[in-house]
Amino acid sequence: MLAAASALGLCAMPSIAQADPVVDQAVAQLDDLGLTTLTGMPSGRTTYRTFDEMTAEYGTLAAANPDQVVVKTAPYKSIEGRTIKYLEITNHASAKGDGKPVFFNIGAIHGNETPAAEASIEFAYDVLINARTNPKVKALLDKVRFIDLPITNADGHVRHRRAGCPCATTGGVDLNRNYPFGWGSNLGVTFAARGSGPGSEPEVKNTMEIVQRNQVVSLLTQHTNSRAILYPGLEIFAGQPPDLANGYRDLAVAMAHATNDGYTNVRDSAHDYETSGETIDWSYYATRGFAVTPETVGGSSTCNRASATNKAGKAPNYVNCTTGDYTGFVPADAAADIKTAYSGHAMRDALRSLKAGERPSTVMDFEQLKQAVGFPAYYAEEARYKV
Ligand SMILES: [Zn+2]
Repeated sequence: MLAAASALGLCAMPSIAQADPVVDQAVAQLDDLGLTTLTGMPSGRTTYRTFDEMTAEYGTLAAANPDQVVVKTAPYKSIEGRTIKYLEITNHASAKGDGKPVFFNIGAIHGNETPAAEASIEFAYDVLINARTNPKVKALLDKVRFIDLPITNADGHVRHRRAGCPCATTGGVDLNRNYPFGWGSNLGVTFAARGSGPGSEPEVKNTMEIVQRNQVVSLLTQHTNSRAILYPGLEIFAGQPPDLANGYRDLAVAMAHATNDGYTNVRDSAHDYETSGETIDWSYYATRGFAVTPETVGGSSTCNRASATNKAGKAPNYVNCTTGDYTGFVPADAAADIKTAYSGHAMRDALRSLKAGERPSTVMDFEQLKQAVGFPAYYAEEARYKV
């Protein structure tokens, strides 16, 4: 949970002091690490990586950190035959059967969401750099294995398209609608885009096998661009996940907190928009581990990947959008809408949106907030599920 909470930004403590006890604990643990704020990407990167550059960098990281990084090859090649690699990061990384719980980060399952790949590799740098200088971070790696798959959809990343291949047509399979859980409900996706069968695509099989072969207790699937933290379920009629009251909501809130309160679209995915066959529902219902979809690099028209400029440039501006979002640091010469997007969003917006499904403009005190987001209701639900 802590690793997941840290994944989106190694930032300062939030300004609101009290929250739900689980939130308090997660935020306090994050704060206890004593992480310093960033003004640039951990690796120093200022441009998007190609697929080949990314893959080569895994080897460089492993060579520089032989005890802590192992490069693995995913079992299935992409439709176009690309070998997909990923990183395993922990102290004594090559040890087998150590039983460590796993935090699994899935980057860029939508190939054109390139900042999601960048955030994923940069978090690996962040962890390793901090582990070198901060004993508390190093100690975390005695307890947790971090599996990092920065580019899941290799063909899509190379071609800068959302879907996977075959790529003869403009359609293709939306890999984040291909997972077996809820696949048949066909919500929010065409027959063609959801794939020929539940879990049919090799890139999806790769992520599923990693979950099946490891004790994944916390999973993030990185997307752009909405400044969102979305958790299961995907369908309104499927109801609320039983664990919503056991920390899910709290985790989402803590993560929003940990990102300098910049994330304002925090809710169950069904109330963002309904879909089927996404990563988080399958992962959650298969393992009951936390599975969350963060969407980064949103909140600014300048950083919208769908804009004509960004489409032509194949990604939003790296330093202003991707770096700005990851670090929380807004460059002095950034456009006005970037400054608005990357600073000053209060946690209370995110909290209230959990219940109301909307972003409020008014400011409430914390007692009001707890009522507004339904804390009493889910404490009652928690009591119901307690064993
Ligand atoms: Zn996406």
